[in-house]
Amino acid sequence: MKQTSRSHSRLWLFLLSAALSLCLFAQAQTPKAIEDALNEAYNKFRNLKEGKNADYIKELANVDPEIFGIALITTDGKVYTKGDVTSMVSIQSVSKVFTMAKVIEEQGAQAVQDKIGVDATGMRFNSIVAVELQKGKEINPLVNPGAIASSSLISGADSAAKWRNILQVHSDFAARPLTVNGPVYISEAGDNLRNQAIAHLLLAYGRMYFDPVQATDIYTKQCAINVSAKDLATMAATLANGGVNPVSKKKIVSPETVMHTLAVMSTAGLYDNSGIWLYHTGLPAKSGVGGGLLAVCPGKFGIAVVSPPLDAAGNSVKAQKAISYVIDKLKANPYLVQPK
Ligand code: GLU
Repeated sequence: MKQTSRSHSRLWLFLLSAALSLCLFAQAQTPKAIEDALNEAYNKFRNLKEGKNADYIKELANVDPEIFGIALITTDGKVYTKGDVTSMVSIQSVSKVFTMAKVIEEQGAQAVQDKIGVDATGMRFNSIVAVELQKGKEINPLVNPGAIASSSLISGADSAAKWRNILQVHSDFAARPLTVNGPVYISEAGDNLRNQAIAHLLLAYGRMYFDPVQATDIYTKQCAINVSAKDLATMAATLANGGVNPVSKKKIVSPETVMHTLAVMSTAGLYDNSGIWLYHTGLPAKSGVGGGLLAVCPGKFGIAVVSPPLDAAGNSVKAQKAISYVIDKLKANPYLVQPK
């Protein structure tokens, strides 16, 4: 009898602590908790002086390094912001995500796996050796060879139509018409011989699906699309919401397309530090040398930071720190599970 009542009270204790930890988990993402997390992250990192603007694209060196804004948008369309979330930077590599998503949507997941590849290369984002070693295979749409191959694969009868398609999908993800930063585009277009070499090498291996010069030009223009932290958060929130934009309510791509897109972001989103990023946050993400970084918490929210100074791997220093801080505070790492 004593034994039964002891095991009953143990059961109650267990249920109580499980309910409590569930509650703590739910509380971690209330509007107040989100606001606090954004404020704290902003104040903690606003005066950080580490990192340096990219300068291999000359115009990027001229961007104000003090721009720093955090935006978080939930899958039900609630917008939380802190700092400068309206100043624009060029989207750069973050664009690779949205062109990839559109190509998966148009061609199917298997075609992208077969024609481009979906494996991490283990090499730098603009490595020519990576292409050469695998004869154009085993690359993915988030490194330059795969991204230029994606621009070549996107539907459109000619270069202008392909470009319109790319700009449209970016605008759809951002829930507003986006435009190109002219000086950044001109600056990179006059200096993108390496990317042109990559496109030609892919052509030699039968893995370029349009004129290589024009495909590289479309890709370069796509990298020069201007975005704010709020735009990037809206784009991330659309991925978090299975391809329906929570701000415009418009369906942009299918949940299956998002599922495959997020997988590639998990393995190759932050250049050579993709593994370290995933180890700490558990979230698919993508950075660009313009200083933007977005991360997707599936089913919950998209978060983005713009801050141009980069670390040695090419990722925004403040963006990595601020997003990691918020994810931690909100207990939003999907691999963090309370045992039943
Ligand atoms: N347009 C840049 C390039 O191709 C993008 C680089 C990046 O953001 O990683 O070099």
